[in-house]
Amino acid sequence: MPFIRTAVSSDVPRCSKLLEILFSQEHEFTVDAEAQTKALAIITGNPELGCIFVVEINGIIEGMVMLLFTVSTFLGKKVALLEDMVVAPEWRGKGFGSKLINHAIKFAESEGFGRITLLTDRDNETAQRFYKSKGFSQSEMVVFRKMLDLKQPLKQMTMNAWMCSECGYVYDPAEGDIDNNIKAGTPFERVTDEWACPVCFAEKTTFELLS
Ligand code: FE
Repeated sequence: MPFIRTAVSSDVPRCSKLLEILFSQEHEFTVDAEAQTKALAIITGNPELGCIFVVEINGIIEGMVMLLFTVSTFLGKKVALLEDMVVAPEWRGKGFGSKLINHAIKFAESEGFGRITLLTDRDNETAQRFYKSKGFSQSEMVVFRKMLDLKQPLKQMTMNAWMCSECGYVYDPAEGDIDNNIKAGTPFERVTDEWACPVCFAEKTTFELLS
């Protein structure tokens, strides 16, 4: 029987594996097993910082979600950041993500938290629909940040332009390729493999990164 529990330090290696899956899907993050392991150990070792809920199926952790604790001066209450929601690919679509998030929400409510905030990729409509179905709504606020550790750069994927090596056409992710149903803001890496150069019809694989 699948069940949800709070992760402990011995769960860190498996949770780190799940984060690898998550970060390989998100636009802005790259996988760094050492950093992930370190962070998970900090959280499981310091329960006042937050908690990680895991779903265990047949004795193996197949999904996780994290709440990190902070305080809102506006609400005068503890609030939480929801992070790192992931279910192993072979267990998706079976309601485990839903159970995990319900569990996290119930926990936050019972602990007197005033709000849960989360970030998700702008173009990940599936995730956005999922969070909306759980009562989250999109904020009007904009995310700003300053990277203080340059050894951990954000994945530079979104704004890279790529050039067709056959004809010199440049794919600009800011513009996309509207005529061929590629929305403005689509990183080249997210353009479908069936897409071809709109000028000379060369395959996507003939494109080269413009540095
Ligand atoms: Fe071309």
